[in-house]
Amino acid sequence: MDYEALTEVGAMMGSGGLLVMDESDCMVEIARYFLSFTCDQSCGKCTFCRIGTRHMLTILEKLVAGEGEPGDLEKLEALALKTKGGSLCGLGKTAPNPVLSTLKYFRHEYEAHLRGRCPSKKCAALIKYEITDDCIGCTLCAQKCPVDAIPIQPYEKHEIIQDKCTKCDACFQVCPVNAVSVG
Ligand code: SF4
Ligand code: SF4
Ligand code: SF4
Repeated sequence: MDYEALTEVGAMMGSGGLLVMDESDCMVEIARYFLSFTCDQSCGKCTFCRIGTRHMLTILEKLVAGEGEPGDLEKLEALALKTKGGSLCGLGKTAPNPVLSTLKYFRHEYEAHLRGRCPSKKCAALIKYEITDDCIGCTLCAQKCPVDAIPIQPYEKHEIIQDKCTKCDACFQVCPVNAVSVG
């Protein structure tokens, strides 16, 4: 890994950190996360960096909340390109990179969010936890649920009260027989 090699593949060294991600990471959420950081860092001098990043962030927030609309991806792309071109310093010029590269390589994930689905099952608004018939009634999930969304029923199949569930993932992690499904 060196400066030239990263530049050749369209990446940058940044502060020297390297993040390794796999299919369990949501690319739309990753883009939202990075943009929220650069959006906060903008000094506000350039219009596109100040307002363009804010608009992009709003669209990404809508997408991860399952509130995306037709045309959002095109708007996102146009704003990203204009922000790159209309910003004075490196912050504004590179802020849209996570958006542009995820749109380029993972557009299908954006399109899935528009249809109300998060393929990597990371966006809380787009997923649902359920308990399957494999449940052996060990009560572990009910004991670990931080919001009491699973009534304790020893030796019986447990159920999740959906209105209470905050999608914290604790039940999924603790179940000894993989009876908690995320979909
Ligand atoms: S591009 Fe640089 S100078 Fe322009 S608003 Fe953003 S941080 Fe400020
Ligand atoms: S995901 Fe978290 S809040 Fe929801 S039922 Fe499981 S433990 Fe409770
Ligand atoms: S932890 Fe798994 S097996 Fe135990 S009660 Fe919960 S869903 Fe059922």
